[in-house]
Amino acid sequence: MEKISRTKIVDLLKRVDFGAMVNVKGWVRTRRGSKQVNFIALNDGSTINNVQIVVDLASFDEELLKKITTGACISVNGKLTESVGSGQKNEIHAVDIEVLGVCDNTYPLQKKGHTLEFLREIAHLRPRTNTFGAVFRIRHNMAIAIHSFFHEKGFFYFHTPIITGSDCEGAGQMFQVTTKNLYDLKKDENGSIIYDDDFFGKQASLTVSGQLEGELAATALGAIYTFGPTFRAENSNTPRHLAEFWMIEPEVAFNDIVDNMDLAEEFIKYCVLWALEHCADDIKFLNDMFDKGLIERLQSVLKEAFVRLPYTEGVKILEEAVAKGHKFEFPVYWGVDLASEHERYLVEEHFKRPVILTDYPKEIKAFYMKQNEDGKTVRAMDVLFPKIGEIIGGSEREADYDKLLARIDELNIPMKDMWWYLDTRKFGTCPHSGFGLGFERLLLFVTGMANIRDVIPFPRTPHNAEF
Ligand code: ATP
Ligand code: MN
Repeated sequence: MEKISRTKIVDLLKRVDFGAMVNVKGWVRTRRGSKQVNFIALNDGSTINNVQIVVDLASFDEELLKKITTGACISVNGKLTESVGSGQKNEIHAVDIEVLGVCDNTYPLQKKGHTLEFLREIAHLRPRTNTFGAVFRIRHNMAIAIHSFFHEKGFFYFHTPIITGSDCEGAGQMFQVTTKNLYDLKKDENGSIIYDDDFFGKQASLTVSGQLEGELAATALGAIYTFGPTFRAENSNTPRHLAEFWMIEPEVAFNDIVDNMDLAEEFIKYCVLWALEHCADDIKFLNDMFDKGLIERLQSVLKEAFVRLPYTEGVKILEEAVAKGHKFEFPVYWGVDLASEHERYLVEEHFKRPVILTDYPKEIKAFYMKQNEDGKTVRAMDVLFPKIGEIIGGSEREADYDKLLARIDELNIPMKDMWWYLDTRKFGTCPHSGFGLGFERLLLFVTGMANIRDVIPFPRTPHNAEF
């Protein structure tokens, strides 16, 4: 076969230099036609759209044609031709076809219309479907949007460790990291495991958040963000929780809670606008296939200011709803950690737009949050979104050394490994704020997918680490 340099289908579909000889490579989605002429829909992952290959059967060997089945990988040289059919403006009239990889009829993606549940069981192949191709292209574009947003604003991308020696990051159960022989654990007289001979010489875990190190960086570089994997061993089998997920955590010196809310709102709107502008084909596909309200929902988030409301007011609204007969699965009262159904009621039923809830009871929030004068609440902020509930959790941080230490004592937090964190408050402390956005929660919103397992390539959840 003559060597012609390959054109990606995303670029090819825009071309109008009819008559040119081109090469495309990709996987056969479908093949149909008559005894004289066949039409192959070819996809190479660069776009949701397929290019149509027109094959005049008389010019090709029958043995070769037999191998062009759904899922097969082929390379096609052909003439770029104006398309007379509807849909694409061009097509390729095949001159030469090489089968790079055959695909027999055990290929699970022959038929269309598999359920998302079934596709999770073949996560190694599902990126080849239209749906997951779209989701993972959007995932890439959102990562670029995030870096672009912070870079434009002069934030520095700061890498916090994945393996951590602090067991009080304050956000959920941790996975341990060890090289010890688990069949022969040495214990002291109290039955506690001895870690002296372990790899790090002490107990180590996978991080649940980069925030504490992020605070160190913010009090040096001014404004930073992290963007990396985080791990939580919480046994929550929900459509919104993963054991391994990616988190974006900006942390900014001199920002108070209001600046923090402004940043969160601007950030999410920037990402949503980016998706609409850069992923139009993929979003339209997901809108048409899964969620007819998707595009409208994305656009509406851009238009409206987020509601900003103290937790206490939010609870009042929920209690009034209960009084009027609204049924929640979980009880609502001042002091409760709101469930997703409560958050979604505020967003979807009551305000009909995103809500930032602030000033939560200190008992349900982490030790490092700035304490309010009332002695009961802290300067926390959760951003609540339609269909999801909490998408961002953040706060103004307690900058006062004595107040922070008092809270740590009160909660009996083991601080022996955290001397370095307290140093930020000892040496030139400053007001500062930050938040964490769950990357997959953002993707749930932007793609309209209903289950978090469907917006990450290889989900890790309780009892599931296949692939
Ligand atoms: P939730 O109440 O939903 O369990 P959280 O309050 O424990 O979340 P934070 O510790 O505030 O979460 O983490 C910041 C953000 O990280 C959350 O707002 C959410 O977007 C995301 N997040 C938290 N836990 C998970 C998880 N297990 N899987 C995916 N994303 C998560
Ligand atoms: Mn939270």
